[in-house]
Amino acid sequence: MNVKEILDKAYNTHKLSKDEIKLLLTLEGEERQLLFDLADRTRQKYVGDDVFLRGLIEFSSYCKNDCFYCGLRRSNTEAQRYRMQEEEIVEVARRAYEMGYRTVVLQSGEDPYYTRERMCSIIRKIKEEVDVAITLSIGERPYEDYKAFRQVGADRYLMRFETSNKELYQKLHPGMSFENRIECLKWIKSLGYELGTGFLIGLPGQTVDDLANDILLVCELDADMVGIGPFIPHPQTPLKDAHEGSVDITLKCIAILRLLLPDSNIPATTALGTLDPLGRQKGLKCGANIVMPNVNDLDYKLKYELYPGKICINEDATKCRGCIESIIISLGRRVGQGYGQSRHYRAKKASGD
Ligand code: SAH
Ligand code: SF4
Repeated sequence: MNVKEILDKAYNTHKLSKDEIKLLLTLEGEERQLLFDLADRTRQKYVGDDVFLRGLIEFSSYCKNDCFYCGLRRSNTEAQRYRMQEEEIVEVARRAYEMGYRTVVLQSGEDPYYTRERMCSIIRKIKEEVDVAITLSIGERPYEDYKAFRQVGADRYLMRFETSNKELYQKLHPGMSFENRIECLKWIKSLGYELGTGFLIGLPGQTVDDLANDILLVCELDADMVGIGPFIPHPQTPLKDAHEGSVDITLKCIAILRLLLPDSNIPATTALGTLDPLGRQKGLKCGANIVMPNVNDLDYKLKYELYPGKICINEDATKCRGCIESIIISLGRRVGQGYGQSRHYRAKKASGD
């Protein structure tokens, strides 16, 4: 099949073989633009022009893990650590609501301080006091924890598998296991959360073959949302001298994922905007429909350094919101109202799956 036929097949069937994905990942020039335009059309057809905003609350920079790429890894003794207490987290969620957010994402390193009881109490309190959907992004936990969080009202869970290449996964995540991560994702799905997952682009040693497998794994896990972003080397990690991930490949992955999961939510990530000042705009033009601005105070934003050079770090949350809105409007889109539940999730629920 030629490129045109592969694109037609993707648009009409939402299915592609690994070789077809690999071919699309290498497109250049006009053919690359065809891919982006088709993904944009698919986005328009299945999820419309609404761009939903999620207020990101990074509530702890402590982490017990040692992921090679991440500035929060436990071996980084220079990292600045903080923990927000329940009242403060609820207060930021309330502020996010007042700014118009209807989803908050509670994200942190894997921090055992937040026991099942503490997390449940935070979720319950936000749900009682603020009318928002809650996404958790706090890593691997026992099944009983996921179950308890869901019971007290957590709506969604975001955890990337980072890479589908097991060998590479084991190299970059000492003391962790790929199998366990996938098992956690399956538990999360089975508990009725909206499932978000994804991967990093441009990890040292990662190949185009790996990326095609990553895309296929996202489909296999039947993700309701897909977060992908380029790897950005952090100077206080073992990968400090590695090359950063490619913006171009990231955009192609977004476009291919939109074609394969037409009604899922796909964010234009902060990492993409960090490597290219127009990265988020480009992402929104080739399939993405979500942006996740940080709603924390400056002091915390500076300390939560997964990677260096994060955009909007000096902006206060209100300004950030205004800035994102004008970006969305300049693209001829509008800010979504309401919780912005994944249509993929809603369709599955309606069909009783
Ligand atoms: N601890 C949780 C959530 C916080 S990390 C977890 O690991 O799931 C959130 C995401 O940041 C990770 O999934 C990873 O993909 C991304 N990340 C970490 N370090 C990064 C880096 N150097 N460049 C780009 N993304 C990074
Ligand atoms: Fe911890 Fe997540 Fe960073 Fe890994 S990616 S070190 S789990 S914060």
